[in-house]
Amino acid sequence: MRPAHGLLAINHEYLDEGLLFTDGQKTWSAEKGLKAQNAVGVSVIEVRLEGGQWQVVRPSRYARRITARTPCRISGPAAGHALMRTAADPEGRSVLGTYNGCAHGWTPWGTYLTCEENWNFQFVNRSGEIPPEQLRYGISAKGRNYRWEEHDERFDAGLHPNEPNRFGWVVEIDPYDPGSVPVKRTALGRCKHEGAACAVGKSGRLAFYMGDDEGFEYIYKFVTDRAWNPDDRAANRNLLDDGMLYVARFNANGSGTWLPLMYGHGPLTPDRGFANQAEVAVKTRQAADAVGATRMDRPEWVVPHPVSGEVYAACTNNSARGRKGAKEGPNPANRRAPNRFGHIVRWREQGGDVAATRFTWDVFVEAGPADQGGTIRGDGFACPDGLWIDSMGTLWVGTDVSPTALGKGDFAQFGNNQLLAVDPATGVFRRFLTGPRGCEITAFHTTPDNRTAFVNVQHPGEAPGDRANPDNPRAHSNWPDYDPAGRPRSATVVIRRTDGGIIGS
Ligand code: CA
Ligand code: CA
Ligand code: CA
Repeated sequence: MRPAHGLLAINHEYLDEGLLFTDGQKTWSAEKGLKAQNAVGVSVIEVRLEGGQWQVVRPSRYARRITARTPCRISGPAAGHALMRTAADPEGRSVLGTYNGCAHGWTPWGTYLTCEENWNFQFVNRSGEIPPEQLRYGISAKGRNYRWEEHDERFDAGLHPNEPNRFGWVVEIDPYDPGSVPVKRTALGRCKHEGAACAVGKSGRLAFYMGDDEGFEYIYKFVTDRAWNPDDRAANRNLLDDGMLYVARFNANGSGTWLPLMYGHGPLTPDRGFANQAEVAVKTRQAADAVGATRMDRPEWVVPHPVSGEVYAACTNNSARGRKGAKEGPNPANRRAPNRFGHIVRWREQGGDVAATRFTWDVFVEAGPADQGGTIRGDGFACPDGLWIDSMGTLWVGTDVSPTALGKGDFAQFGNNQLLAVDPATGVFRRFLTGPRGCEITAFHTTPDNRTAFVNVQHPGEAPGDRANPDNPRAHSNWPDYDPAGRPRSATVVIRRTDGGIIGS
């Protein structure tokens, strides 16, 4: 039976006020702040294949918006800890909203994981003295000028220093239960989570691979204590609360180690600032610093291969590597300084066991032109970001060259951002589609029969370096409506072959 009915869960990663408001941010009000907070988050949409076309089911009991204001529950080791308590939530167990979810994950029991990435951009701290734990997570005096704090004081981290601790988590959502409360799973650590990709072990225990998408940050793995139960969905409800969080070290000889981020283990002790596992979870980045993990070039999506068990991770770029004053120069797994074009690193767990603490690794491809260290066979690309491996084992790669670099200098030869397909066995890349101007290809997903692909095209027509000009919102694109009076809109593209056959075959 071919899948013809299902739910799509989609992140609305961030907003552009130049497109959302007719006057951009020229005026600001509580109402505009509210609209902004309701424009981000997650949507759940019911879809059905009818007459060869996917349609949105309306009305649908599953249709749902989760926003920066939706109540979420906090669970796992940090729940209730003093660092999670605020004036509005003295218990430290409930927080309003999730936003800036970048990539995603899913569980075998059909829940969706949205992963909070650049959540720090909405915070400001104008106290004149930003504490080191906020600086480590990128809290600044200005943020990115979202102006949320003007009408929602919790985004002023000077006044509410614990509110930032309540973001940066992997959030589990049950799309089949529209009344369910999203849960922030603190056992998976706090960082700028790109995604959380699940690998099912032979014993039924699960590993979730996660990148922290910022220059010189780390790749993490969370392994559940228990096996998942395929016969009893409710038994998996809190599976993500108990397990071990690891961070990766890539050694020069091609071996690697998963270093446990466990309270009391190694340097993770009270005299080093970690009084319990809750503090290890809240201060995941500092814990990873302390154990000596490998600083990566902006780890984005990570995907396990369903057959070989190899795991692929996109390191999208890091122009700061090797720059004067930078944290470090090249290391074995991030060999170019600066790394303007990104690469894909790959590893194999020892014994094929998702719970292994050792692995072997190599660099699958260095992106960019050959004269800049690129090793691509086939069609050229730069800045790999979104990864997906379909059930036939084809690796799909979406790119995210920033609009400031798109079409310029060494990047011009690659054109707009694109989606490529590569057979990991041959390593030959083939361009599958090209996005509209200014966009990023943010996700690719196929139905289990590989006959339909869903591709997310984010921020088409994005202005280089800043928000869109509200007086000319279609300066760079008006995709996908091409309305002469309209504006560009992020959208999901649905792809099927005209003969209904398998995509990529
Ligand atoms: Ca990202
Ligand atoms: Ca991304
Ligand atoms: Ca990206």
